[in-house]
Amino acid sequence: MIWSFSNSHLFKKCQRQWYFKTHVANANAKKIPLQREAYLLSKLQSIAAWRGSIVDHVISRRVVPALGNGWNISLAKTLEYARTVFDAQLDFALRHRVREPGMSVAKCGDTFAAFHSVEYGPEVGDDEIARAWADVELALTNLLHSFGLHDYRLQLATYAVALARCEPHKDFPPALSLYAPADIRLLEVQLLTDQRREYTLSDSDIEGIDSYIAETSTVMVLADGEGGKGAPRPFDYPVTQYPDTCQRCPFRKPCWESEVWQESKQISFR
Ligand code: SF4
Repeated sequence: MIWSFSNSHLFKKCQRQWYFKTHVANANAKKIPLQREAYLLSKLQSIAAWRGSIVDHVISRRVVPALGNGWNISLAKTLEYARTVFDAQLDFALRHRVREPGMSVAKCGDTFAAFHSVEYGPEVGDDEIARAWADVELALTNLLHSFGLHDYRLQLATYAVALARCEPHKDFPPALSLYAPADIRLLEVQLLTDQRREYTLSDSDIEGIDSYIAETSTVMVLADGEGGKGAPRPFDYPVTQYPDTCQRCPFRKPCWESEVWQESKQISFR
């Protein structure tokens, strides 16, 4: 099992949702329909998450390469590109093309998007789309002149620990191995509000992060079953204790319509 911050977070929210995402979803499954269904459902996003992914996409495709090559970055051209991607993905998502036979993200590339609200409702409103575009525009404008309400200190800190301890990629600075996690400067930039938060880590923070990783890995490994053998079946996993989580969960259909997937209840996915 590979530990990640997002999976540890998901496991805490709902063990069953974690299991659907990490063990059941399979793009290439042919024999067990629930695996393919879980794969399709795992691609559903809220409009807010999609809006963030558009900004990430534009930064990685346009802004970072331009910075790396020393090119000028034009706000107008960047927004034009963002709007093209936004419109293409919006069209794809509103037509719910994720449900077309044989659909996969790899086949569709940059035009792929799937909305939770198209699958489960309520209908996506024009005002919601207009707000999403306004947020993308604002985020990119804030970025090129220089999300969320909670801070990402713990998440960034785990990245600092990973950076200091990982096998360095070939394009990492050669002196990286000389630094400890506490030496790494952490900067959180909220593109929508143009707020920046800088964090420093102490040795006791690092101990806390190590404990968090050890504790969350252990519970996930235990939930996984011994060495992956004899792993429990998806419907054996407990449901969330927070009913609100179900409203945003992509796996609500198989989870709530368990009679439909009765056959899959008999199957172990390991
Ligand atoms: S619908 Fe609710 S209980 Fe079921 S997997 Fe999703 S979050 Fe968990």
